[in-house]
Amino acid sequence: MILNMILAIWLIIATFGFIYLAAHYNFWRLKVSNDYPRILMYHSINHNPGISHPDLVVTPANFKAQLQYLKKNHYQFLTVSELITGQQASYLTPVALTFDDGFADNYTLMFPLLREFNAKATIFLCPDMPKINKLTNQQIQEMQASGLVEFGAHTMTHLNLALASDDIAQNEIMQSKQHVESITGVTCNSFAYPYGRLNERTANYVKNAGFLCAVTVKKGIEALTDPYMIKRISVLGKTNIVQFHIAMTRGRYRV
Ligand SMILES: [Zn+2]
Repeated sequence: MILNMILAIWLIIATFGFIYLAAHYNFWRLKVSNDYPRILMYHSINHNPGISHPDLVVTPANFKAQLQYLKKNHYQFLTVSELITGQQASYLTPVALTFDDGFADNYTLMFPLLREFNAKATIFLCPDMPKINKLTNQQIQEMQASGLVEFGAHTMTHLNLALASDDIAQNEIMQSKQHVESITGVTCNSFAYPYGRLNERTANYVKNAGFLCAVTVKKGIEALTDPYMIKRISVLGKTNIVQFHIAMTRGRYRV
């Protein structure tokens, strides 16, 4: 009787353990073709997770381990608009590292690692975003001059474009493009929808403003058939290297 109970408890623990592992390590997902580019989504690279969105902060040590993984596995680093304009080598899988919002630590902690690995990145700037420690114009210009970083736009104020009036949405999109160009001195080709939110008109506004492409927060890896609805792989503070491998090969690592 007691033995049966112990056995039953062990079975329950094993079942829940298995479900937990299957949910957090999605090895069961089908692998995606190496022909499709991987677009990774980051925000802040920092030692300190902060309090507002700790999940969006990846430590420099974890980011470095991810760069080592990408180098070791022969991914080709490209910016987002290089992906769209077809600059990938046919025998390598392209990867685009993207950083939303324009955190100052993208210069102080992320950029030195880009240099170390000769990796490229795309940073989406949001000039009037409240409550974040932003990149200065000088930092942006230095990164731009390195040839390793492309700067995209992310609206002026980080508003939800799905809920904004048509006039405001168009202005925010246009103005952020002009603002980024006024700092970098080059054409701003890529856009990121704040919160990944858009309505049926938003992508057209982005296209009409002259952007070549736009990234969403939808998770996955696929052919870039619609350059204004690009899916990304989300990398979070708690993403470990095994989960990173699962995401790079399958589009996402957890349910
Ligand atoms: Zn954002």
